[in-house]
Amino acid sequence: MSHDPAGDDQHGHHDHSHLEGMELKVRTLESLLVEKGYVDPGALDEIVETYETRVGPRNGARVVARAWRDPAYLERLRQDATSAIAELGFTGRQGEHMRVVENTPEIHNMVVCTLCSCYPWSVLGLPPVWYKSAPYRSRAVSEPEAVLAEFGVTLPEGKTIRVWDSTAEMRYLVLPERPAGTEGWSEERLADLVTRDSMIGTGLARAAGEVS
Ligand code: FE
Repeated sequence: MSHDPAGDDQHGHHDHSHLEGMELKVRTLESLLVEKGYVDPGALDEIVETYETRVGPRNGARVVARAWRDPAYLERLRQDATSAIAELGFTGRQGEHMRVVENTPEIHNMVVCTLCSCYPWSVLGLPPVWYKSAPYRSRAVSEPEAVLAEFGVTLPEGKTIRVWDSTAEMRYLVLPERPAGTEGWSEERLADLVTRDSMIGTGLARAAGEVS
């Protein structure tokens, strides 16, 4: 499943004419395959859904879990996120200039791309449809509390929300707060608490009791 970021690096943001050409090719190919009976459209949707919500974000979840467990790794992530993420083998397009923004009891971070859909592919996989939507792109900046409420997130009174606007030059990964009651957990177990949305900032990490 390839998804071309379409000239993103040359122009600051996406070259939309190229993107449209690529989408057209993909759609044509898809309808041809469906028409010939080679693929089931439901199965295709399931594959995309898998990459959006599971495969891709597992990389980011490992970065977060490592940072929660290993203070030296957290420090490397703060100093140079691109290299620290590459240490775990996650590199590639749209992951070249990474910055990790840490949630704390005082600050909640949220990521958007106001101009198009810049997203840290190497750690989060495919961007969700809502991330690319015009309402999210504008409202994440103008009314972040309302957007968070729609995602089911209510922050404690007095917490500051910081919104980070991604570009081709800088991609952000939110480091969610480590849930209480997870002392001594393995990296693998911790990673199960880290959702995709918690690394975009439209969610929080799962509570310790939410996974078995
Ligand atoms: Fe963009």
